Amino acid sequence: MRPMKDAPGSENVPRTEPVVSSRGRYGTQNLVVLGAQVLGWAVVLTAVELAPYVALRIALIALFCLLMQGVFTMMHEHFHRNAHWVPAIDYAIGLVGSTLFGTSATLHRVHHWGHHVRNRSEAERGEFIHPGEAPALKVALYYFAICGGLWLGGLVFPLISFFIPWRFVRFLARTKRFNTYAAMFEQFKERDWTRMRLEALVLYAFWGALLAWGPWSTATLVPAYVAFAFTWSWLQWVYHLRTPIHVIEGTYNLRAPWLVRVLFLSFNYNLTHHRHPSMPWQELRGASDPKETQPLWYRVLLMALPPRPFPTNDAELAALDKRYF
Ligand SMILES: [Zn+2]
Repeated sequence: MRPMKDAPGSENVPRTEPVVSSRGRYGTQNLVVLGAQVLGWAVVLTAVELAPYVALRIALIALFCLLMQGVFTMMHEHFHRNAHWVPAIDYAIGLVGSTLFGTSATLHRVHHWGHHVRNRSEAERGEFIHPGEAPALKVALYYFAICGGLWLGGLVFPLISFFIPWRFVRFLARTKRFNTYAAMFEQFKERDWTRMRLEALVLYAFWGALLAWGPWSTATLVPAYVAFAFTWSWLQWVYHLRTPIHVIEGTYNLRAPWLVRVLFLSFNYNLTHHRHPSMPWQELRGASDPKETQPLWYRVLLMALPPRPFPTNDAELAALDKRYF
């Protein structure tokens, strides 16, 4: 098997994330925002529980999905160690967010810088089938991943990890060439593996207690989290697919309505984030060129298209060049 090749521009993305001395400088604000998100999570779930009409329940679940995208943004600040200047508080922000989200903070953190390194390499081209990939399997995996599978993987893998001894972890990376999530297993350290397992215990204890004694019924929690799992997974690659084969420029800033942008905590400015990975979310909008965008809804629709063979000629590759409208 050929080794994984980096996408052009990868010489500008170091293999390990550089330490920026100013990181976490919005720590106090992030604690307040996380507090508001936890409160919002509880209030919206309660409103769903009490809603007398199906239409109102659906609207509230849509609001829940938007709010939870912002919880992921706060987790993402932690992945970049940018949530708080005190490392323990930075970690606590990631842990609280991940527990509400339904996953392990460490699993995502270990993967995340690898995503910045591997963006638009063969491992991160969900929309293309390369020579050496099985087309039917790629299409099936694509729709499974974007329809909720990415979220589900984050929920169940920390639990499955109890059955995978540390010495076998590198073996999980054997399909790394076309699979960025497999490539992540090369970055794991033994203490990360242990920490992920501890986070799984916290996660399952929290959710076990909530389901047993919490104020919300499964008739509220299941549809809310199924909708969140679907929408978050669908949005995971929305910035990157059908963009130039370039590790930094292979992403878009997407325009979104005010409420979406605010609840997303500016995650839609993904190009600016890839150009400046240590920039706090609070500064992304101001650092973005409003002309350098596409509408979010347009790229959400594009996600429905199935994977197709990787372009073999320059004209087709040039069609991936960015267009702003
Ligand atoms: Zn990032």
